[in-house]
Amino acid sequence: MAPAMETSLLALAASPQALGLAMLQSDPHAARLDLASQTAAVADALADGARTAADLRKRFPELMPQEIARELGVAVETTDDDPMVASILRFAEYHSRPPRVLIYNGALATLVRVLPDDLSGRIIGPATLRDVFVAHELYHHSETTRAEVPISRRYQATLFRFGKWRWRTGIAVLSEIAAGAFAQSLLRLPCHPRVLDIVAIGSVRPATEASRVATTPEEHNRSQGTDAQIRFRQ
Ligand SMILES: [Zn+2]
Repeated sequence: MAPAMETSLLALAASPQALGLAMLQSDPHAARLDLASQTAAVADALADGARTAADLRKRFPELMPQEIARELGVAVETTDDDPMVASILRFAEYHSRPPRVLIYNGALATLVRVLPDDLSGRIIGPATLRDVFVAHELYHHSETTRAEVPISRRYQATLFRFGKWRWRTGIAVLSEIAAGAFAQSLLRLPCHPRVLDIVAIGSVRPATEASRVATTPEEHNRSQGTDAQIRFRQ
């Protein structure tokens, strides 16, 4: 078996909590939290995603993600632009002004090509990849438009201390963990869709050197730390 496919099957067996913890621990800011805080943050992110999905399901019991987007006034568009930015592979993006979801046809086509039908069924059941990525972005729409503090700001890591002062930052990857849990819950997927990222990274790396998957340009910025919210606190 190809090593990439072996990695995918291992990911398939992992729980959402384990996948979320692995995502969190790959974030340089989150690595500063102790394990108990990391575990609690992942559990909160998963619960937030599931609760947000339950709220939307109550409003739209029968609708698929694209139809929910229409009801919420979120346009869903596709593009044939190159899905790669540096070493980041983009499947989809959410833009808030005006609200819209952009799907990268090339990235979806690549995933369809490398994902065997039986494995696809085990990861996303009867849902389509497009359903999964639109759902993921609907979580970002929800967290952007509601009043409560986003999950990425609820946990803070201390970057450094100077006397009684501390520089702190939010943890953007928590929003991605929650978005995956949202899609899993909304579409009743067998797995947290992080498994799809793992399949994609394993399959495209030899050709493109992709080292991670992003779903928004903001995530790209976040990964470089430019959108990390640094606060000066006493
Ligand atoms: Zn995302």
